[in-house]
Amino acid sequence: MNDLSQKQRDTADRDEYEALILDSVDRFLARDVKPVAQRLEHDDTYPAEIVERMKELGLFGAVIPQEYGGLGLRPSTYAKIIERIAKVWMSVSGIINSHLIMAYIVAKTGTEAQKRHFLPKFATGEIRGGLALTEPDCGTDLQAIRTFAQKDGDSYVINGTKTWISNGIHGTCFALLVKTDRNIQPRHKGMSMFLAEKGEGFKVSRKLEKIGYKGIDSAELIFDNYHVPADRLIGGEEGKGMVSAISGLELGRLNVAARGVGVAAAALDEAVRYSQQRHTFGKPIHEHQAIAIKLADMVTRVTAARLLTESAAAAVDRGERCDFEVGMAKLFATEAAVENALEAMRIHGGYGYSKEFIVERLYRDAPLLVIGEGTNEIQRITIAKRLIEKNPI
Ligand SMILES: Cc1cc2nc3c(=O)[nH]c(=O)nc-3n(C[C@H](O)[C@H](O)[C@H](O)COP(=O)(O)OP(=O)(O)OC[C@H]3O[C@@H](n4cnc5c(N)ncnc54)[C@H](O)[C@@H]3O)c2cc1C
Repeated sequence: MNDLSQKQRDTADRDEYEALILDSVDRFLARDVKPVAQRLEHDDTYPAEIVERMKELGLFGAVIPQEYGGLGLRPSTYAKIIERIAKVWMSVSGIINSHLIMAYIVAKTGTEAQKRHFLPKFATGEIRGGLALTEPDCGTDLQAIRTFAQKDGDSYVINGTKTWISNGIHGTCFALLVKTDRNIQPRHKGMSMFLAEKGEGFKVSRKLEKIGYKGIDSAELIFDNYHVPADRLIGGEEGKGMVSAISGLELGRLNVAARGVGVAAAALDEAVRYSQQRHTFGKPIHEHQAIAIKLADMVTRVTAARLLTESAAAAVDRGERCDFEVGMAKLFATEAAVENALEAMRIHGGYGYSKEFIVERLYRDAPLLVIGEGTNEIQRITIAKRLIEKNPI
């Protein structure tokens, strides 16, 4: 050890610290999540006890810097945690993800006072919440949002509606994207982001029913003359809302890529097990070439998705611009999740359609991944744009 440089010692300490955390996440998943996931998901029950355990593990502060009370994990380690969680029950990863996007936005673009006030409470899970961008009339075209914040002395008055907001019912604080200027060009200069805590004028109008991703609440939020103090404007300056949102979505997309790997890997595990248990025509079904070919494609997709996600996560760790890398990881891993979930279902034959087997849940959960945090259509457009920018003639 004496021969090692300080930097090597720091790296070894950090690797050991992060390995310990991954170990405790594995134990938590095996003991507290796996046995109850299927039941809670089918009942669409918010996993309150799991949330308490995640608080104890410090997961609500996973990427919050240690100086503000978080675990200070690198995004690459966070991605490994998310892959593990999603492999067991994807909804649980959403409970920390949208919360951590909000925290990441504050850590990256908030004022020092906002960091000191909010981050320690976000880290313990005392204040939990998420990200409120989407509106009934727009999701992809965020610059078309209508929620408006009007300056009024030392505060702003906000009116508008947000929809599909994860943690909308059980969360109490949201990174809320609004317009502060409707006329300015380009449109993003008229956008700002606030830390909006529930209170008078901020109400949950309804819980949204979904085909999958159950347990976690998705809600519509209404702001009706909601007053927010001016010091809740993230970064303290109007017009920076899109910059804040984009900085958060970088972590969000990495998370969705990691979820894709987790779901694709879970489908593979189920298929590998079942194809050895189930016999037809006198042999286990994996010995039929039609099934063997599916298994080969599935494991190849999982391996490639994981490698792309690790490579994107390393770029996020280095603090580089990485919409290209994260976009490719998100695109590939989430399509892999959808394909693997369907293949696992087919390999299970009729049982794949039964609620007694896990593959039906994977099949319902996976499609969300191609929609959330920027649809895969938009990922393709961004990837192609960056490709040309990187290779001008
Ligand atoms: C379960 C769930 C949870 C969610 N959680 C959150 C949350 O916590 N916070 C939040 O703010 N939002 C959340 N969302 C919303 C989600 O981010 C949006 O649904 C998503 O961004 C797509 O927006 P949209 O639904 O308005 O689709 P639209 O933008 O209307 O797109 C419709 C279709 O057109 C395509 N399209 C649109 N524009 C283009 C273009 N320029 N080129 C090519 N194709 C295009 C899209 O890819 C899509 O296929 C959630 C959604 C779901 C279903």
